Formats: sequence, C-alpha cells, structure tokens
Amino acid sequence: MRNGKKFFVKDIKSDLHTQYGYLKKDNIAKAKDGEKIFSNTHNEFFVISPSFIDIYKKISRKAQIIPLKDIGFIIAQTGIDKNSVVVDAGAGSGALSCFLANIVKGVVTYEIREDFLEVVKNNIEFLGIKNIKIKNKNIFDGIDEKDVDLITLDLPDPWNAINACSGSLKHGGFIVSYSPTIPQVMDFVDALKTNGNFIYLKTSEIIEREWDVEDRKVRPKSIAIGHSGFLSVARRV
Ligand code: SAH
Repeated sequence: MRNGKKFFVKDIKSDLHTQYGYLKKDNIAKAKDGEKIFSNTHNEFFVISPSFIDIYKKISRKAQIIPLKDIGFIIAQTGIDKNSVVVDAGAGSGALSCFLANIVKGVVTYEIREDFLEVVKNNIEFLGIKNIKIKNKNIFDGIDEKDVDLITLDLPDPWNAINACSGSLKHGGFIVSYSPTIPQVMDFVDALKTNGNFIYLKTSEIIEREWDVEDRKVRPKSIAIGHSGFLSVARRV
C-alpha cells in the first residue's frame, strides 16, 4: 500500500483479509506486477511478485536469527560472491545459511540439534533454495569440506571450532564469529591467537538507527533493536 504496509499472499486460492478490507482472490490472481487493485472498502493495493527478501522475512524462526544489518556486514567484509563456498554453524533456523546461499555457490550448514533440522529444511524449501547441504553434526568434531572461502559461527562457544576451521578454510579464507557478549569475544580472539593459523582483523558492533520521516515528524524511531551481537573477523593464513 502507499503507506508502506505490506501483505504477503501465501495462498492465491483464498481471499486476502486485511485491516484495510479484503481483496478477492480472483483480483489478486489476475493482477500483473505493479497493477493496482482495491479492497471491498476501496483501499488501494499494489500487486508485486515477492522477491527473495519478501519471502525471507516470512521464514519460521525457532532459534534467534541474525539480523539483516549483521548479515550485510559479513557479506561486505568478506566479499563473498557466486563462486564462494561457505560453511555455517549452527544452522539454528537456517536464516543466515539461506541468506548466504542466495548469493554464493554453496553453503554447508552444521547443526547439533535434531529438532531444529526440520525448521531449517522447511525454510530452505519455502525459499526454493537448492544449494544448501545440512549436516546433523557438531562442528567441533571436524569440518569435512576443504578449501572453504568463509566459515560463519553463531554458537555459544565458537572458540572450540577454531581448530576445525583452520583445517577447512583455504589460505586467505575468512572466519566470522557472531556472539552476543564480550567474554565470548575475548575467548574467541584469544583462541585465534593461540591457534597461530589466523590473522585477527577486527571486532565490530553494527548499530542501525532507523528514522521516521512523516511530514515534520522527522526523528529516530522511538523503538529500536538495542543490541544483537558482536562480529569478529579473522583470516586463515
Ligand atoms: N545463525 C542462525 C541461528 C543460530 S542459533 C540463524 O540465523 O538462523 C545457534 C545454533 O547453534 C543452535 O541451533 C544450536 O543448536 C547450534 N549449535 C550450538 N553448538 C553447536 C555445535 N557445536 N555444532 C553445531 N551446531 C551447534
């Protein structure tokens, strides 16, 4: 809608009910991209086919997923592209794996909890992604993939994965660890240095401040994400 409200049509065979009235399924089905249709209460809607990000925002979340601002940092710092191979652990809800899979050649994701695998599989299917392999394995026990371009770690004790990462990353490959607290960052960076096969680059916190821009009410939004996590980046040498 013109006010920025979005409605995701999950089932084109039913009418879409909204607080702005309902849209008839036949009107939705026959509308072309960019076409305007009206609800029974004469509110105006634009029909747009969903892109990756629209579908991504609808995936199910069992574990806490990593926010978009932090995913953006990982992509920008490591320069991963369509030729890259990524290992991710733990899969959690599969959010990071799915986002990265959409831009790289392939992702292998490790997850110890069997009950999370189903959520990850459903999210992969929902997004129509074909280049993710899921492994029900503890990443501390070793990484089967070699010559990997990037390993992302989003788990409570990432320092325990460093030896496995060292044997799996290609020379020049990146490791990015995402942790909510500073003691975790300290232990991770210490372990990187002890291992000796890594150059530690940096730890950053990404702060995104969204603003309301509405007539003269132009100011930061009053409610924002307070804190998500710290991102530590290192390179295999
Ligand atoms: N980045 C994920 C969320 C990860 S939540 C997302 O965006 O959806 C952390 C996950 O790591 C949990 O599901 C947990 O079960 C898993 N995990 C913890 N330790 C692990 C280990 N040693 N190996 C593999 N997975 C692990």
